[in-house]
Amino acid sequence: MTTSEKQKFIDILAAFTGYSSKHLPDDVVERLTLMREKEDSPMAKLFYDAMFSDLEKASELDRPCCQDTGVLQYFVQVGSGFPLIDETEDSLREAVKKATIEAPLRHNVVEIFDEYNTGDNTGTRIPWIDWEVLPHCDSVTIYMYMAGGGCSLPGTAKVLMPLEGYEGAMKYILDQVTSYGVNACPPLLLGIGIGGSVEVAAKLSKKALLRRIGTRNKNQKAAELELKMEEAINRIKIGPGGVSGNASVMAVHIEQAGRHPSTLAVGMSTGCWAHRRACIRINHDLSYELLTHKGVTL
Ligand code: SF4
Repeated sequence: MTTSEKQKFIDILAAFTGYSSKHLPDDVVERLTLMREKEDSPMAKLFYDAMFSDLEKASELDRPCCQDTGVLQYFVQVGSGFPLIDETEDSLREAVKKATIEAPLRHNVVEIFDEYNTGDNTGTRIPWIDWEVLPHCDSVTIYMYMAGGGCSLPGTAKVLMPLEGYEGAMKYILDQVTSYGVNACPPLLLGIGIGGSVEVAAKLSKKALLRRIGTRNKNQKAAELELKMEEAINRIKIGPGGVSGNASVMAVHIEQAGRHPSTLAVGMSTGCWAHRRACIRINHDLSYELLTHKGVTL
């Protein structure tokens, strides 16, 4: 690995991060388009129109589509043979600093206890990096998520007594959505993690937000539960921006892990209408492809 290769890697990651702050992924745009078409409340229609006008302006003016560009999280699936594996963490930190200036991104990271804003969107363990190492692979696939304040606020996780069952777990989620969901600028994307222990459920709920809208859990019972939860939450009619409307969610995604017989852990993460989630695959020769934004060259 040469210095210029590392710099190229940083440049790609910074451009990827900056671009994703301004352009929603294809699946989110498609779902919002569909929801706007199906809406018949005039006020809700107005809100969808405002969202699409915002997206057009963001693209035209080359500015983030929401002022809150969040705290950055990267979910990294790195091949054990990727030549810059040792440089990935440092490159992501450098890329965040670069994107903060170039995009620009709002300064969002406040150090816990010392309570000061670091001014460059990095800090202790931030950007948050979640690692998976893939054997026999020489590329890296990176999911980026901008965890905004409003969309992070409803997040929750708890360990239930197993007797509460799936009904109890879903009641816990529904109570949270009805109490705090409106803070996350609906229509929401709801991620639910279930099983494992509390931190596993919480992490799975965030990973559920990384899935493409329109996909279903591979387990048929989980897929049915996703659909039922979508129908239940849509019946509340939160509508875009919480002004009431035909729907409340873009989708509900569930991810699961095996559980201890004495526990039933459940977690929830919410994404907002401006769901800035992006995915890039970078090959060993630093050629790349944006998997969430088709046809884009950075
Ligand atoms: S919830 Fe989403 S759209 Fe609303 S302010 Fe936060 S990041 Fe922006």
